[in-house]
Amino acid sequence: MRQTRLISKMKKVVFLTGAGISAESGFSTFRGNNGLWDNYPVEQVATPQGWKENPTLVTDFYNNLRKNLIKAKPNEGHLKVAELEEHFDVTVVTQNVDNLHERAGSSKIIHLHGELMKVCSSDDPDNPEYIETLDDEHLIVKHGELAKDGSLLRPWIVWFGEAVPRMEEAIEAVSDADIFVIVGTSLNVYPAAGLINFVPQSAKIYLIDPFNVETPRGYAVEVIQEVASKGMRILEQILLKKS
Ligand code: NAD
Repeated sequence: MRQTRLISKMKKVVFLTGAGISAESGFSTFRGNNGLWDNYPVEQVATPQGWKENPTLVTDFYNNLRKNLIKAKPNEGHLKVAELEEHFDVTVVTQNVDNLHERAGSSKIIHLHGELMKVCSSDDPDNPEYIETLDDEHLIVKHGELAKDGSLLRPWIVWFGEAVPRMEEAIEAVSDADIFVIVGTSLNVYPAAGLINFVPQSAKIYLIDPFNVETPRGYAVEVIQEVASKGMRILEQILLKKS
C-alpha cells in the first residue's frame, strides 16, 4: 500500500529507444554502419514478402543476429535507464528487437517491433499460443522447423508493412509522460517516430544521439549530442537535480 502511494507520486519518464542505444554493446545500428543489416537488403529480411520468397535466407539472418545478441552485453546507456527506476516511474518504449533493456534490469518495456529471442507461427504471428521463447540451448532455428500450428516457425519481428500490435500501449504511456527521452533513433521508422506527437505540452523532451536527428517542428527538445552512455550520464544528473 505504502509502495503504491510512493510510485503514484513519482514522475513518469518514458524513453523511446532505437538501435543507437545498443551500438556501444556491439549490436550494429540499422543505418550508416557496416553491420549485418547493411549486408542484407531490407526487402529480403524484414518484409513478409521476403519471408515468403526465401524463408531460409531470413531464418539464417535472424539466427546470426541471435548469435551476436548473446555475445552482447547491456552498456551503460541501458543500465542508467534501468537505474532511473529508483527515482522515477520509467517506461521504455523500444524499437529494438534485442533484449538488452531486459538484461539491464528495466521492468516496463514495450517492444514495438517484436523480440529477436521469440519465434512464432507464420500463419498467426501474434497468437500467444504459438509464440516460443528461445534460449542459449535453442538459439538456432532449423530450416523447415515448424510452429505448434504446423506452419513454418518465423521470427517474432514486426516487419515493414505489418501492423505494430503494441502501438496503443505505447501511445498511452507517452500521453501520460512528465518527461520524454529519445535515445539512439533516427526517427525514420513510423509509426514509432510519430510518438512524439502524443507527448503532453507540459512534458520536457530530451534527445540523446551523437548525430543530428530531425524532430518535428513545434517541440522544444533539449538535445544531448553524445553517445548513449555519456548522454545518459548527463541526463541522469539533470533529472536528479530537478527531482
Ligand atoms: P537507425 O539505425 O535508423 O538509427 C540509429 C540512430 O542511433 C541514429 O540516429 C544514430 O545517429 C544513433 N546512434 C549511433 N550510435 C549511437 C550511440 N553510440 N549512442 C546513441 N545513438 C547512436 O535505428 P532506428 O531508428 O532504431 O530504426 C531502425 C529499425 O531497425 C528499428 O525499427 C529496429 O527495429 C531495427 N533494428 C533494431 C536493432 C536492435 O534491436 N538493436 C538494431 C538494428 C536495427
